[in-house]
Amino acid sequence: MALMITDECINCDVCEPECPNDAISMGPEIYIIDPNKCTECVGHYDTPQCRQVCPVDCIPLHPDHVETQDQLMSKYYRLTGKQPKVIS
Ligand code: SF4
Ligand code: SF4
Repeated sequence: MALMITDECINCDVCEPECPNDAISMGPEIYIIDPNKCTECVGHYDTPQCRQVCPVDCIPLHPDHVETQDQLMSKYYRLTGKQPKVIS
């Protein structure tokens, strides 16, 4: 599931540089997350980095972008160009 930023965002700028997928950018009024780029940090970190730093806790899961762990991992591979490890 991608995450989303709600209108409680205070534009503090701290989440944008923490995103390993460059999924966060400034929108018309507040920061926004591109659901095509957000992997919930799967592949990079154990926990969503943006949520870790947000001072007002305004980054919930996006209800319209429900994805399994496998789908998030596939997105990570697509975004990074890395290949899944083959266990022989
Ligand atoms: Fe970026 Fe991770 Fe936040 Fe998604 S959860 S927007 S990938 S920092
Ligand atoms: Fe908005 Fe939270 Fe990001 Fe700050 S950390 S810009 S409040 S979403």
